[in-house]
This record gives sequence, C-alpha cells and structure tokens, in this order.
Amino acid sequence: MPKYIFVTGGVVSSVGKGITTAALGRILKSRSVSVTLQKLDPYLNVDPGTMSPYQHGEVFVTTDGAETDLDLGHYERFIDEELTKSASVTTGQIYQSVIAKERKGEFLGGTIQAIPHVTNEIKARVRQIGRETGAQVVIVEVGGTVGDIEGQPFLEAIRQIRREERPEDTLSIHVTFLPHVGSTNEIKTKPTQHSVRELRSMGIQPDVILCRADHEVTAEIRRKIALFCDVDERGVISLPTMDSIYQVPIMLEDENLGDYVIELLKLDAAPRDLANWREMVDRLQNPTNEVDIAVVGKYVELHDAYLSIKEALIHAGIAQRAKVNIHCVHSERLEQEPVGSLLEGVDGILVCPGFGERGIEGKLEAARYSRENRIPYLGVCLGMQIMAIEYARNVLGLIGANSTEFNVQTPHPVISLLSEQMGIEDKGGTMRLGGYPCRLIPGTKAAAAYGTDEIVERHRHRYEFNNKYKAQLAQAGLIASGTLPDGSLVEISEIVGHPFMVGSQFHPEFRSRPDRPQPLFREFIAAAVQLRTGVDGGLIAQQRERVAAGGA
Ligand code: GLN
Repeated sequence: MPKYIFVTGGVVSSVGKGITTAALGRILKSRSVSVTLQKLDPYLNVDPGTMSPYQHGEVFVTTDGAETDLDLGHYERFIDEELTKSASVTTGQIYQSVIAKERKGEFLGGTIQAIPHVTNEIKARVRQIGRETGAQVVIVEVGGTVGDIEGQPFLEAIRQIRREERPEDTLSIHVTFLPHVGSTNEIKTKPTQHSVRELRSMGIQPDVILCRADHEVTAEIRRKIALFCDVDERGVISLPTMDSIYQVPIMLEDENLGDYVIELLKLDAAPRDLANWREMVDRLQNPTNEVDIAVVGKYVELHDAYLSIKEALIHAGIAQRAKVNIHCVHSERLEQEPVGSLLEGVDGILVCPGFGERGIEGKLEAARYSRENRIPYLGVCLGMQIMAIEYARNVLGLIGANSTEFNVQTPHPVISLLSEQMGIEDKGGTMRLGGYPCRLIPGTKAAAAYGTDEIVERHRHRYEFNNKYKAQLAQAGLIASGTLPDGSLVEISEIVGHPFMVGSQFHPEFRSRPDRPQPLFREFIAAAVQLRTGVDGGLIAQQRERVAAGGA
C-alpha cells in the first residue's frame, strides 16, 4: 500500500509550492523510494487546455494526451518519470464524473452532496494513482492556498484519508511564506500562524512547515513557528529563494527534510545521494560559455507562458556548459520594428508554439532572418509551420503561402487541416494530443541529434504540414527529417545547408530533463555555441560579419 504526502500552501500563492513538491519527489527517488506526484487543482475548468495563457501560463501535455497544469512539468523534470492523466485532477473533472454517475442512477436515488460524494470521488482519484503506478509514496499537491472556498472539498478529502490510513502512512506538509518588514528588518511569522490555524480548523495538523522567505530564517524564528503551530522543531524547514530551482532538492536535503520524512513515514530508504544532481547544478552554476537566444512568441511578457521551453533551453545549456541568456522578443514588435535591430547579435532564434493569427507575420520575419543570416533556429510546433510558410513564400516564391488557420483562402495552403488535405468537408478536426511515434530519416540533422531513428514525442495542434508541397519544398532545400512511421505526416523538418534550422510539429520541450537534455534543444544550443565561439572554423561567424557589414 502506498503512503501519501499531502502538500498544501498558505499565506500567498506563487511561492514555489509545485517546485517544492517536485524537489521532495527527487529527494525520495534519489534515496531509492519510488514516487509519483499528483496535482489537485480546485478550479472548475475540466482541464487547463481551454484556459488563456494569461490565466494559466503554459499547458503541459502528458504522453497519454492530457492537457495539464504546468506543475506537472516541474514534477516530470525533477522526478524524471512520465506522468499520466491521473496526475492532474480538477474540481471540474470531479463534478463531471459525480454528475455523470448521478445521471446514470448510480447513487440509487440518494441526495448528492459535497460530503461524501464529491470527497469520495477525490479520495478515489488519489488512491487510484497509487494503484496505477505502484509507487511507494504518492505526493499530492493541492493548488491554491488554504482558506480558498473551492479548496475545501480537497482538504476534507485529505482529512478523511489521513484518518482512514495508519498514522505512519500519511504526512502533511504546509508551504508558507514569511514576509520581511523592511522598516524594522524583521521576518514575520504571524501569517504562517494564521494559515496553520486555518488548516487545523479543517482537521489537518501539519507535520512539516516549509518556510519560504527572501531573507534568512533564524533558529529563533523556527522555534517560534514550531511552538505556535505545534510542529516538531525538526519539521520547520527554511527554504530561502535561490538562483535556480534545481538547487531546491539540495537545499532541502541540507535542511534534513529527507531524513525527517523517511523517519515519520517509517520508510525503508537508501542513504541520501544527490551526487549526480549536485554535479548537474554545478555545471549550471559554472558555465564556460555563454549564448544569447531570442525566444519569439506573442505571450513573452508572461513568465509562465513558455515555461517548459525556457527550462529545456537551460537544460541544453547545462549540457554544453553554456549560460543561456533568454531574450524574449514579442512577435508583434517584429512586425513594427526592423527585425535586424531586435534580433541583432543573438546566437539562436526559437519560434514558439501558438494559436491564432496575432504576431504571425513577425514570426515569419524571425524565420527569414534566421535563414538568411544562418543563425541557428528551432521551431516548436507553430514554429515549424512558420519555417515552412516562410520557405514557401521567400524561397519557392509562392506568393501568399500560409496556413489555413490564418487564411482559409490562401492560394498555397502549405499548412492545413488534414480534413482539408483529404478533401473532407467536415472541419471538426480535434487536436492531435500526446505521444506519437516518429521515424527519422537517416542522414538528417534530426536523426543525428537523436542518435536513433524511432522516437516518440508529444503533440498539441490541429494543423499539419501539407504533403502536396512536400516534394517541391524538399527540392528547394526544406526536407522532412521525420514522419509518422507510415510516412503519412511530416513530424519534423529541416533546411539543408543551414547550420541548424529545424522545426518540429511536436513539442520537444516536454521531454527535456535538467540532467538529460532533449536532443533537438541540445543541438540547437550546440549550434548557437558554435556560432558564438566560431568553433566550426569560424564559417558562421565570418558569414555573420559579412552580413553585418552589408555583404551577401
Ligand atoms: N496553431 C497551430 C496548430 O494548431 C500550432 C499549435 C501549436 O503551436 N501548439 O496546428
């Protein structure tokens, strides 16, 4: 039977509860305890797939095709396990399933209530993931902060599970924030006391209080929190803000959180061992190179909109021992200002995924700039479609080439819906979601990057490369580097003769790990380092100087 760790948040949101949860998973896994992670999100949406990036940041996609909360991305990056749709539970899903059962008459005429029907459904989901994965420990994070109205059924379900299980089989961790008052230079514990009181009023006594703070938390403050919140002093853990999220597992082990959790849960665990993780962090913190990468998108002003992409760039940098300076470039600005002035001096250009027409012409300009100036380019999903449209317009001379997503009337639908390609009237194509196999074509940059010819990557899109243009584009230098195994859909493409201009219809960023970078990101950053240092014999650098000097 699995053991459960419940992670709740207090005081304020966005203090890194998800990262802390993920880091705890890493600590346990590195002590040979098998773990899985689950996020309970109290909002009423069934999943974040339909939510605006302004509301929710990135949508993280699992291999089994679930559109989930971005915290699942942190979970996968830290514990290096592929999660499934069971790892992401929302109030919307819970109600949907309770109501479906009610309509089927499964409750035999009973009155359907928050307790026990909704709470039973929540408990079932928590226990299901334990059964499905066979993990020794299931770490369950509750979104939001204690005191939120919509979070109450989740806390009640947790209270019940804690009562139903043996005391050594569950643990409650409360992540709070200790504000600093500048005028008196003091760290304040009162909000934490209030938040713990709120949690206790729901029947949950925390075992561990994890104190996030921007300043040092002294032993005296910890003693105070332990006393007022009725927690063992060893259970009050300080977690100051760090340069990198990847330092968090190390910090938590240094604070002896792992030992304490293992003791309370009576786990049979191996000694702590973060040697490999520490080495990875050391590489991250001591780079020998540096590259400037432009990330082009229409939501670049939002911190979380392209989270997995930014992390994947950092992972690739770790592999190349290069500090990756990410420069966010708004695609609409590329439509208003000279492209050269916005992208000048960058060592690589990444064009982000996206939906809808806004900023498309700017992204096309970025692709053109990459191609003409031989600057490494990585196109992710829409970024690959952009690469094809730009090539069709400016190299093949197909005036007005476009995706039917942006212009249904385009004379050259280089990107279109599968139904359109096959002459089917019904346009109701749903999204292609989750993992699909792809066969790479030997001799391509993509195949060299992966070092294998059969891969699985995750998708989230509706439109596809139009095979009608495949031969024409290939003849001009834009080749398919991988397709579905039956050859029917182009999944990845590249430009022959360019140092690195690759676009994938799938989302490579979701499978990148800090200690195992995704191959396309790794080679993209390697090409950027080469451009920066001239290691390839200086050809790219010379070319760039010529371009800068106004030459060909
Ligand atoms: N809008 C494009 C499509 O639906 C690309 C989607 C994406 O970038 N994720 O195909």
